[in-house]
Amino acid sequence: MASQLEIPHLSTGKVFRQAICDRTALGKRIEKLMESGLLVPDETVVEVVEETIAKPQYSNGYILDGFPRTLKQARSFDQTLKNRGEALDLFLSIHVPEQELIQRILHRGEGRSDDTLEKIKVRLQVYEKETAPVLEHYKNSGVLRSVDGTGSVDDIFDRIIHALPVH
Ligand code: AMP
Repeated sequence: MASQLEIPHLSTGKVFRQAICDRTALGKRIEKLMESGLLVPDETVVEVVEETIAKPQYSNGYILDGFPRTLKQARSFDQTLKNRGEALDLFLSIHVPEQELIQRILHRGEGRSDDTLEKIKVRLQVYEKETAPVLEHYKNSGVLRSVDGTGSVDDIFDRIIHALPVH
C-alpha cells in the first residue's frame, strides 16, 4: 500500500523487532513484553513515532501501521499533530473474523515469536481492552473508516483505495 501510494510507512512493531534483533538498549528493554504479546509502554512508542516523523522524508505525509494502539497514544499523537500543524486524514480499521485472523497469523510463516496460539490470544485480549477504544476515539473525530479485510489481497487493496478521502 505504502509503495503503491509512494508514502513513507512506519510500522512500530517492525521498529521494535529490529531493535530486538540488533540487541540495542531499546530492544533489551522491550523484548520480554513483546514476546509475551503485551504492549510496549506508551512513552516508548510515542518517542519512536515522534523521532521518526520528524525526519524530512515524513514531511509530506506518512502511513502509520500499528499505532496508536491505546487511548493514551492517540491523545498524545493528536497533540503532536496539532503542534506540527497537521491533521489526520484517515484512521483505517481492517476487519477480519477472529478465527480467520488466528489462522492467517499462524500460517504467515514470518517466524515471529509472538505468532503462537497462546500469544495470539493474549494479543487479541489486549486489542479488545486497549485498542478497541481507540476506534471509538477516531469515530468521534470523524476520520474512522472500516473495511472488510476478508478475500484476496487485491480485493482488500481495492476496498482500502476506496476508503481513502481522495481516490
Ligand atoms: P505488530 O507488528 O504491529 O503486530 O506489533 C508487534 C508488537 O510490537 C506488539 O504486540 C507490541 O508488543 C509492540 N507494539 C507495536 N506497536 C505498538 C504500539 N503502538 N503500542 C504498544 N506496543 C506496540
